[in-house]
Amino acid sequence: MKSYVIIINGSANAGKDTFVELFENICSNNEVVYEFSTINKVKKAVRELVHNPIKNDKYRKLLSDIKKLWVEYNEGPCWATFEYIEHVLQAENVVTNYNSAFIFIHCREPEEIKKLVSHVNYRFESVCKTLLIHKPNIAIPNNDSDKNVEDYNYDFIIDNIGTIEDLKECAVEFKTKLHQSNISFGIDIDDCIVTTIPSIISLIGRFYNEVFSVHRIKRYDIYKCLHIDKEVERAAIELVIEDSDNLKFIDGAVETILWLASKGTRIHFITGRDERFKNVTCKLLNKLGIFYSLSFCNGEEGKTKADVINEYDIKFLVEDRGSIVEDVYRNTRASCFLFDKPWNQHVRANSGILRVGEPILVFLE
Ligand SMILES: [Mg+2]
Repeated sequence: MKSYVIIINGSANAGKDTFVELFENICSNNEVVYEFSTINKVKKAVRELVHNPIKNDKYRKLLSDIKKLWVEYNEGPCWATFEYIEHVLQAENVVTNYNSAFIFIHCREPEEIKKLVSHVNYRFESVCKTLLIHKPNIAIPNNDSDKNVEDYNYDFIIDNIGTIEDLKECAVEFKTKLHQSNISFGIDIDDCIVTTIPSIISLIGRFYNEVFSVHRIKRYDIYKCLHIDKEVERAAIELVIEDSDNLKFIDGAVETILWLASKGTRIHFITGRDERFKNVTCKLLNKLGIFYSLSFCNGEEGKTKADVINEYDIKFLVEDRGSIVEDVYRNTRASCFLFDKPWNQHVRANSGILRVGEPILVFLE
């Protein structure tokens, strides 16, 4: 199931609730919409304190001030929100009955929005976007929460200036854009984001007391290209991977990945490494400081990279190994960026396989 967390904001009476209602109306049977606001908990607390409160500026200021104190006390509003999102995403009826879940979170304060976005990106696999519903010429209530709603760089701003039908059209367009932002990128690790082959070859060279050139590696089977024992190749690969902490990121790789992540692209690393190297691999990837998912496809048994691409609906793959790119091209609908290396020169570029140099950011912009 794909999930989207939409942090929605706008001053009082801008049309936020109407927008969510219209959004829900355009959803299909296998899509579900949830809505949450931490202010509801504050309202509940206020009802304990004030009998029949009147919804005026004074009342709104009371809500805003209490929320502010709650944040200062223990970041309660954020934690309550995460608890809610987690509850929805783990609910059995949601997971089994729906393809997509849209969770709208109402939040007024830019500082709180920042916290929500970074934590949602870190804690959940959901696409997280911010949305401002803007209605000009309405009176803005005089409290800290309402006054500052525009002080945030929202992913989407919708001007609520027309009829209900106009707003409904905005909801349709917003939904399309949300889906588009859910593009997944599959990225191979070794010799796509970090360099391993030169270290492997130099280790093998030391073992045989010889100097091997990378250009002798015309295919991914190093042992065949160097006419050496397969077991020596395997041992050298394992030694280099075990030492992942000391592997250098390829020029531009980190910038490219951070740029993709900043656009809301989901990053799924797909590696041919053996799963027993999970700890060192995660330690390496965690240095990027982004949310990612990871699959191991060591080729001997279990899933191929093409299987993972189909399972996660991945749209693009960055890979250096020719045979994998050819398999993905034949068996999936993903487009491949083939990293230009001596060992993949036999692969022909075509409409689904684009040969790229380093850094690949140039090709993506
Ligand atoms: Mg590779």
